[in-house]
Amino acid sequence: MLWSGWGDPAKARELPEQVRRLLHDLLGVRAPAVPAAGLESVRMPPAALEPRLLDALAGLVGDGHVLTTHEARVRHARGKSTPDLLRMRAGDGAGAPDAVVLPGGHDEVARVLRLCAAERIAVVPFGGGTSVVGGLTAARDGFAGVISLDLGRMDRLVEVDAESMTAVFEPGVPAPEAERLLAAHGLTLGHFPQSFEYATLGGFAAARSSGQASAGYGRFDDMVTGLTVATPEGDLDLGRAPKSAAGPDLRQLLLGSEGAFGVITSLRLRVRRAPAEKVYEGWRLPGFAAGTAALRALAQDGPLPTVLRLSDETETMIGLARPDRIGGGEAGCLVIAGYEGASVAARREAAAAVLSSHGGVPLGEEPGQGWAHGRFSAPYLRDSLLAAGATVETLETAGFWADLPRLYDAVRLALLGALGSPLVMCHISHVYETGASLYFTVVTAQEDDPVAQWERAKEAANTAIVEAGGTISHHHGVGRDHRAAYAAEIGPLGVAILRAVKDRVDPRGVLNPGALV
Ligand SMILES: Cc1cc2nc3c(=O)[nH]c(=O)nc-3n(C[C@H](O)[C@H](O)[C@H](O)COP(=O)(O)OP(=O)(O)OC[C@H]3O[C@@H](n4cnc5c(N)ncnc54)[C@H](O)[C@@H]3O)c2cc1C
Repeated sequence: MLWSGWGDPAKARELPEQVRRLLHDLLGVRAPAVPAAGLESVRMPPAALEPRLLDALAGLVGDGHVLTTHEARVRHARGKSTPDLLRMRAGDGAGAPDAVVLPGGHDEVARVLRLCAAERIAVVPFGGGTSVVGGLTAARDGFAGVISLDLGRMDRLVEVDAESMTAVFEPGVPAPEAERLLAAHGLTLGHFPQSFEYATLGGFAAARSSGQASAGYGRFDDMVTGLTVATPEGDLDLGRAPKSAAGPDLRQLLLGSEGAFGVITSLRLRVRRAPAEKVYEGWRLPGFAAGTAALRALAQDGPLPTVLRLSDETETMIGLARPDRIGGGEAGCLVIAGYEGASVAARREAAAAVLSSHGGVPLGEEPGQGWAHGRFSAPYLRDSLLAAGATVETLETAGFWADLPRLYDAVRLALLGALGSPLVMCHISHVYETGASLYFTVVTAQEDDPVAQWERAKEAANTAIVEAGGTISHHHGVGRDHRAAYAAEIGPLGVAILRAVKDRVDPRGVLNPGALV
C-alpha cells in the first residue's frame, strides 16, 4: 500500500489528457506549487514510549513484533481520507504512533490491553488502515504514549461450518484473502466495498461496513453472527445462536464501536455459496427522480438485484461509474444492475420490467461489465487527481425514501455554498425497503490550504445532513471526523450511555481515545 495514497503504486495511472483539460476548463485546476513529500522527510512527534515499556510489550508479543522504525510509524499514522492523504503528501505525520505492536492471537491482545491500561498507553487497533473518518489517530494528551495495534498477524480462517453456513476468521484477514480462503470451500462472503483490496474483516465489523453488493448479500453487520472481543477488563464472547430473544443484542454494541470498546479478535460470519452465474448490465433512466423511484420499487416490491446502483445526472455525464471511461459519460442517469446466484434470468427479466416501467432504456451488458471491471480503480484515480491539483473527496449518508430528495438537495447546496463551483456528483448504491444511502463525490480546485478548504466543506455537509434528518454515516463510521454530528444524532442521553459502556470496559480510557465518543 502506498503510504501517502492508495494501493499498489504499480497500478497508479496518469490522468488522461481529456480529464486534465476538463479539470482546467471546468474548475480551474492547476498543478500544486509544492511537490509531495518523500516518506523519509515526514515529520512526526518524537517517540514517547520509555524503553522499559517497549521491552514489556516485546515480552508479550515477541521481539520482532514491536516496530519503532520511521517507516512503520509513518505507515500507521493515519487512514485514507483525502485530508489524511493531503497531510501525508505535505509531510505531516503528526498522528503517528510511538510503536506498532503486532499480536499473534487473542491472548496476546488481551495481555497488551491490560499492560496498556496499567501504564496508560493509548491503543489504536489497526486493520487495513483504510478508515476515512479519522479512526486511526489517537489523542495523545495524558498518555504515556500511543501504540498502533496492527492485527495483520491474526490472519487465519479458523473454521468453516458448511452445515450452518458460517466461517470463523481472525480479524486481520484482508478481504481478498477471505474470499480466496472461502473459494476453496465453494463459498463467498459477498462483501465487496471499494476498499476491498486492503480492508480487513475486523475493520469491516468495527466500522459497520457495507459493500457494493449489499442489495444481495447484506451489509457486513448482517453477516456477523458471533464476535470475540478483548477489553482491558476481560473478554466478551457474543452470539451463540443465529437469533435470540435473550435481552438486547450485545453484538450490536460492539459492531461499529471502532476500537473504542475493545479489540475484535475473532468473527463468526454467515457465508453463502459462491454464485455459479454473474451478470451485470446497464440501464439509462430519464432522471434521478425517476431512477430513485425505480430503485424504490425494486427494493419494496422486488425483485432485488444483487448489485443496484444509480448515478445522478452529473455523475452519469462525467462517467464516474466507469473509471476506464471517465469524461465519456452520457445523458440521463446510469443504473448498474447485477445479478448473482440462482434464477438470474428470471430475476433479470422481472427487474427489467420494473426499470422499463420507470422510463428505463436497456444498455446491455457492456456498461455493467465496465463497472465490474473498474469497481476498485476509483481510489487510484483520486491519487492522480490530488497530484494534478484537484481536491477530490467522498461523503455519504442515508435516509428514508420520503426524505431522500430533500437530503440530496441539502447536501449538494451545502457543498456548492462552501466551495464555490465544485463538481458535485452523487449515487445511490445501498437500498432498503424503507430508504437508501446517498454517496457524494466532490471535485474542486485545490486552494492554498486544501485541508482547511475540505474541512469547511465537510462541516457544511455535516450540518446539512443533520438538519435534513439523514444519518451522519451509512457505512464509513464515526471516527473523529463525525463525532460531533454523531453526538447530535443520538442526543446527550445516547452519548452518556456509550460513555458508561466505555467507562466499564475501558476505565482508564486507553482504547482509541478520541474516536466515537
Ligand atoms: C478508497 C476507499 C474506499 C472505501 N469504500 C468503502 C465502501 O465501499 N464501503 C465501506 O463500508 N467502507 C468503505 N471505505 C471505508 C473503510 O474501508 C471501511 O471503514 C473499512 O471497514 C475499514 O476496514 P480496515 O480493515 O481498513 O479498518 P481500519 O481502517 O484499520 O480501522 C477502522 C476502525 O476500526 C478500528 N478497528 C480495526 N480493526 C479492529 C478490530 N479488530 N477490533 C476493533 N477495532 C478495530 C480502528 O481502530 C478504526 O477505528 C473505503 C475507504 C477507502 C479509503
